[in-house]
Amino acid sequence: MNHGPLVFDYAPPDANRTLFLDRDGVLNEAVLRDGGEISSPRVLSELVLSQDLMDQKTAAAFSGWNLVILTNQPDLERRRTGTELISEINDQIRRYLPLNLVLVCPHTGASGCNCRKPATAMYDYFVKRFPNCTQSSAYIGDRETDYHFARNLKIPFFLRRRHYNQHLQTDSPVIDHLAQIADFL
Ligand SMILES: [Mg+2]
Ligand SMILES: [Zn+2]
Repeated sequence: MNHGPLVFDYAPPDANRTLFLDRDGVLNEAVLRDGGEISSPRVLSELVLSQDLMDQKTAAAFSGWNLVILTNQPDLERRRTGTELISEINDQIRRYLPLNLVLVCPHTGASGCNCRKPATAMYDYFVKRFPNCTQSSAYIGDRETDYHFARNLKIPFFLRRRHYNQHLQTDSPVIDHLAQIADFL
């Protein structure tokens, strides 16, 4: 498995501010497997896009920002899924949001890579390549890992509320609909 993140380029970022988005549990429903594991779609039939992603209010709230997905997908290293599915899911999300880039850490925690959140190499990659696009940044996630990722970067974090993260105490705004970030940004 290559070192560093996989990069999917869709449109050159042209705004000076970038909204970074976790994928599973934010833009699509996380997949809950036997034993309570919070997981990712492994086949396209497991993909359920979030209702709020498909709401026009969300695209309106996100307009004026570059949109970049940063996602950990350790099932790639485990060979439980492939890059074709990642690409197909990107395309499904792009029906609703004009994504600029999707960056994917394909590694498991055991690999010791620098790109698996809460490590910051995916963000660092973006900033190095597009140095004028992060005058402001914000990040939306659903897991404690995401919170620590944003803390490591000292960028604003929004927790997308889900039933499995009710217990998570953060000092960050909690949103039940993606468009609610407009109240804070
Ligand atoms: Mg997630
Ligand atoms: Zn990685």
